[in-house]
Amino acid sequence: MDELPPTQKGRHHEIRALGLREFAGLKRDDEPLDPFELARYANLLVVPFEQIAALSPETVEHLTGDGKNAWSGGAASHKLPDGRKLIILNPTHGKNRHHATLMEEISHVFLGHKPSRLAIERKNEKGEIIARDYNHAIEEEAYSTGVAALVPYTALKRMVENGKTINEIARHFGVSRALVEFRIKISRLWELYSKSVFSGS
Ligand SMILES: [Zn+2]
Repeated sequence: MDELPPTQKGRHHEIRALGLREFAGLKRDDEPLDPFELARYANLLVVPFEQIAALSPETVEHLTGDGKNAWSGGAASHKLPDGRKLIILNPTHGKNRHHATLMEEISHVFLGHKPSRLAIERKNEKGEIIARDYNHAIEEEAYSTGVAALVPYTALKRMVENGKTINEIARHFGVSRALVEFRIKISRLWELYSKSVFSGS
């Protein structure tokens, strides 16, 4: 059995995240997970924002202009005729944020969450959910499971012990620095991180 995080919530998410990584065919705990590849297995169709023909020019202008920081991605509430589910990602966000957003959507599917959510989720810069007019517990489970799949506990702990910086860990896994910081803190590794970074090892 793999070593699990110290908190009950952490273990809950980690066990599911490990299942997702296994499903993705990953063998090592430090192998980067490509959510775009995993999305295909999860029956999700990630469509480039430019290809969504149903949006009015005003909507597009808002979503990529004034409103661009207020959403990270969205899932269509209805399935396509072939059973796949449509996902769009905010085109003004970079690759790292797309990875986290897409992993959350994959987690919703994997965890069997009912698609009764709002189509658009609002998050702040750190990926924390700021709009709570849908089921918060469901969102937390999906987000936390997704980020645990991207940055697994055992690999994270080992890298922290070996003196790797947040920057290096983020680059390795293809995620944002904020996401790594979140994972370190929520996994109760912050003290260990501070010690190994400031001791210069
Ligand atoms: Zn969600």
